[in-house]
Amino acid sequence: MKSILVRSVMLRGEHFQPLEIEIQLVPGLPTIQFLGLPSSGLKESAMRIRTAIRSSDFQMPKGRQILVDIRPRDEKKHGRGVDLAVAMGFLQLTGQIEIPNIRELCFYGDLGLSGDIMAPIDWTRVRILLEGPLVTGVGPLDFAFRGGRSGEGLSVLTHLRDLIHYFRPRNLQPSDAPMESAGELLDEDLKLEPKQAELAKLAALGSHSVLLAGPQGTGKSTLARIIHRLRPSPSQTDICEIETWTGENVRPLVEPHHTAGELAMVGGRQPPRPGAITRAHCGTLLLDEVLLFRPEVQEALREPLETGFVHLARGPESRKFPADFQLIGTTNLCECGMYAPTARRDQCRCPGRIRSKFETRLRGPFVDRFQMLAFTDAWEPAQGKVSMAELRREIAAASDFQKAVGRGNGNRRWRPWKGASPKEIELYESLPKEGSERRRLSIQRVARTYADLELRAEINEVDLFRAKDWALDTFVALKSLMSTTSPEL
Ligand SMILES: [Zn+2]
Repeated sequence: MKSILVRSVMLRGEHFQPLEIEIQLVPGLPTIQFLGLPSSGLKESAMRIRTAIRSSDFQMPKGRQILVDIRPRDEKKHGRGVDLAVAMGFLQLTGQIEIPNIRELCFYGDLGLSGDIMAPIDWTRVRILLEGPLVTGVGPLDFAFRGGRSGEGLSVLTHLRDLIHYFRPRNLQPSDAPMESAGELLDEDLKLEPKQAELAKLAALGSHSVLLAGPQGTGKSTLARIIHRLRPSPSQTDICEIETWTGENVRPLVEPHHTAGELAMVGGRQPPRPGAITRAHCGTLLLDEVLLFRPEVQEALREPLETGFVHLARGPESRKFPADFQLIGTTNLCECGMYAPTARRDQCRCPGRIRSKFETRLRGPFVDRFQMLAFTDAWEPAQGKVSMAELRREIAAASDFQKAVGRGNGNRRWRPWKGASPKEIELYESLPKEGSERRRLSIQRVARTYADLELRAEINEVDLFRAKDWALDTFVALKSLMSTTSPEL
């Protein structure tokens, strides 16, 4: 008799039990029968699965009973999360869906009567404890596991077909990952003007947090995405981390809307669940109109930006989630979005009062958290000369250099004084004392990236001088810009 094995898992309190579910078709009425002494939870599960399969336009077999044997047999089972595994096994056994290597996947999800797949309440814990890929449905905070390359969540049963895309060869070099090749095609004709190219290169290689400020229509978001696509391939360790938190094996790009609350952004609830910043772990968090995010969200980003982790303490439980992302923010310089620090200054139509409200945000402490600041209005994209291929080559070489000296994750948290040569210490001490300590540290870190681009072990004066441009001068310019335009200052 034909049968199939599917993997699932059961969680009861702290007890984590991997399950093996065997499904077999035998002559009989078309019902689902759990073997042993099924709990009432499992009996309900049988009804739900059958209805979900029918409402998703899959077929129940005629004159066949579906036997389900869940092992280990002596464990008491509450049935949470097994619906999806049983449905998947049945669809695979009857040839309605064909997923190669199905045993590499672990299925953990509840089904709705109309075929919706929901992530059980404790799915984040399963994800943390499980080794290897997990398939579930749409969860709280809309944090669905990605089923297919298209990136859509496995929200309904028919999406299980997309799992076939999961099985591309697993031993590819990271540079062959699908996002990279898609990016290659997309960027083929793209050329950046020299200043833009320099910024993109530094930000991508150094993984520095960068704020792109300027009027509407100056390509801020586009440049942000270009920086993301230029980032060096993740290491094998990073890929494992990325798979744990997103189910994909490419660097994530997460772009939450500025209306997103603290819960969606950093996580929370009881038990604590991760938010968008953990989904961006090892990837890029792109915040468009970053100064419009709520103050409490901006504040909550402080810890992860400094440590790469976020602590969620809600009620009796506290948890630490990884959240080591590159932050790229974009912002207008006024409410109407037309104010430009250079040429098009007169196009802004904001009344003074509104403008100063916006300026308060620009002067706030959040802007200082960025390592680099660039004004986007002076660029002439039409003057583009530097191709993406050129930039990729340069970044790849510099990234190999970084990896060889143990700085494979860029320089955003690099410690300049650790192992500095006497010459470097002398240079650091000569850095301008204006601005905060954070500004001086940012100059050093960006300078490190300049040196990396030239595959040089020591930072020199020129690196620091050039880094100052992005990490201090623009911040000073922003401040003086504000003080000359705001009437009440
Ligand atoms: Zn304006």
